[in-house]
Amino acid sequence: MDYSIARRRMVEQQIIAREVEDPRVIDAMLQVPRHLFVESGLQSHAYSDASLPIGEKQTISQPYMVAAMTAALELRGGERILEIGTGSGYQTAILSLLVKRVYSIERIPLLAGRARKVLDQLCLSNVNIKVADGTIGWQDQAPFDGILVAAGAPDIPNEYLAQLETGGRLVLPVGDRHQQILMRVTRLEDGSLKREQLMGCRFVPLIGEQAWKADFPG
Ligand code: SAH
Repeated sequence: MDYSIARRRMVEQQIIAREVEDPRVIDAMLQVPRHLFVESGLQSHAYSDASLPIGEKQTISQPYMVAAMTAALELRGGERILEIGTGSGYQTAILSLLVKRVYSIERIPLLAGRARKVLDQLCLSNVNIKVADGTIGWQDQAPFDGILVAAGAPDIPNEYLAQLETGGRLVLPVGDRHQQILMRVTRLEDGSLKREQLMGCRFVPLIGEQAWKADFPG
């Protein structure tokens, strides 16, 4: 199957039609082969308007959500970005085309390993992945020009604010375990924080020291 046609349709119908306008984000979504980030049995669904299971009770985010969150960071190209929740690595790949360096944290070793393989296969070499609890950020590499969190938090973890550069943006879902509001927090030039609510969303829970305490059983 020629996935480039499905990919173009995805971008036109799910991304541009829903008013994601940043041409660099659109271009990245046209380039990254999303089907490589899902298991072979699901590849024919990779460009559908949905999140999909990636194992370990986790999901690859819906294409529109990836585009909208990336656009909300307002990237120009020179940034160092912290991503929490590598998952499949798809969002990581999109970011890696748009910024200088991506630091991505995943708590499940199996997923981090798989994501690393696909990113290597695509020769995306400006990505550091580590297996850790991402709710405390990545202190050694802070501050970051942008922080993107791909799992739902009960509140905004303090470390994200502490690790955000002046002018930087934090985009994350905040709410309960089942639904959240996508929030953007910008650190303004005077050091103060501007908070915006972007849209409703549904992410898997952010699990760790500064978020939800444990996964649900079963
Ligand atoms: N952007 C990814 C989203 C994956 S789902 C994709 O599209 O594939 C969210 C991911 O966050 C899951 O892989 C989950 O294991 C991870 N996660 C949850 N809590 C975490 C934490 N505290 N630190 C790092 N990763 C976390």
